[in-house]
Amino acid sequence: MRYRGNIAMISEHANPLSLLGSEDAGGQNVYVYELSLGLARLGYRVDVLTRRDDPRPPEVVRLGPGVRVVHVPAGPPAFIRKDDLWEHMPAFMEGCYTYMVGQRRGYTLIHSNFWMSGWVACGLKLRLGLPVVHIFHALGAIKRLEQGRADTSPRDRLRVERRILREADRILAQCPAEVEDLKRYYGGDLSRVCVVPSGVNTRRFRVVPQSRARARLGVGPEEQVVGYIGRMVPRKGVDTLIRAFARLVAERPGAPLRLMIVGGECRNPEEDTSTELARLKGLAEMLGVARHIWFVGKRQPDELAEYYGAADIMVSVPWYEPFGLTPLEAQACGRAFVGSAVGGITFTVVDGVTGLLVPPRDDAALAEKLALLLDNADLRRRLGRAARRRVEREFTWAKVAERTASVYEDLLAGLIPVPATAVRVVPT
Ligand code: UDP
Repeated sequence: MRYRGNIAMISEHANPLSLLGSEDAGGQNVYVYELSLGLARLGYRVDVLTRRDDPRPPEVVRLGPGVRVVHVPAGPPAFIRKDDLWEHMPAFMEGCYTYMVGQRRGYTLIHSNFWMSGWVACGLKLRLGLPVVHIFHALGAIKRLEQGRADTSPRDRLRVERRILREADRILAQCPAEVEDLKRYYGGDLSRVCVVPSGVNTRRFRVVPQSRARARLGVGPEEQVVGYIGRMVPRKGVDTLIRAFARLVAERPGAPLRLMIVGGECRNPEEDTSTELARLKGLAEMLGVARHIWFVGKRQPDELAEYYGAADIMVSVPWYEPFGLTPLEAQACGRAFVGSAVGGITFTVVDGVTGLLVPPRDDAALAEKLALLLDNADLRRRLGRAARRRVEREFTWAKVAERTASVYEDLLAGLIPVPATAVRVVPT
């Protein structure tokens, strides 16, 4: 295979080797993991530079063919919440610099993830003269708007994001809604923004026969199962789901309803001391539905197809969602899906065709859709089938890698990008 270049994939907090599902390990870890392997399959060599948050692994760990994870020391080698990492970024930049200049094979390009790595990339661009492709994954302005005082991001975040928008050679937006957010809350020259949606691993997230999935997980064939998979943070709206579910339970006395919630800090939810889980359990008690709710704990990606498969309906109703991998995963598993009509979900779900959309924070609207779907197996099947087909067509990681590579190639060839204001997804 033709060698196409050496990529420094900088991802300060999201290590592709981490376990997923906890507070700060989610979609970005998956993105870095899958995209790096996908780029390597196209002929790139990828070094993922991430902050060392554990003293044990060696400096360099092979992730797969052509991909290495480099643990860069910066601050204590222990988990630090991402909102507390900013002060360690100068050390992280120095560590990346030292590692990169020490490599015999030089780098072709830096691909940075999230605002702090974007800051590191802007610094390295000045020192190494390398082009930078940046993806925000989430925008500080939206977080501030949605979370208000609960937003613990460092004050510098917006200023740094503006700098990245000025200095990076290309910005990857994950969906048209992100371009709109950039326009509305950041402004400036957006001519270097390209839309490259993320993807889903369609071999891992596949249709598993429901009877088999349920037998493996100990769920009865007669049960009516509504499910959520994802991190347990307030903005994911799991409380809205519990409230909607409580409405169903009240409307259908005696029905074999079960709400399955996967995610959290621990594999065993009994050991999970997070305030969010305690809050959700308290809400379930208060609404009198605790005995219907199965808090599963966090699970690893290769286990999830069975959890998706066991559900009749999967739900994700966040307040906002920059992209959202779990809606794609649910659809890849052929599930009927209900999501909130925000951000990336409005792009990955075709309302009424591959899933149903409801307004965020609206448990009454959600309960209505859940009731509609529970009573209509045929509609569930139709949505699930259409969803799987669309995911296979549009959202594979191979496609994401090809689209990203075409952004790299155009950049390296000095081509002027097509303005994203035309909101065109990069073609493959
Ligand atoms: N996830 C997981 N195990 C869990 C919970 C979540 O592997 O117990 C994964 C999930 O499958 C998805 C990712 O974590 O791939 C969450 O990504 P998403 O984009 O949905 O949300 P984010 O966490 O980035 O806000």
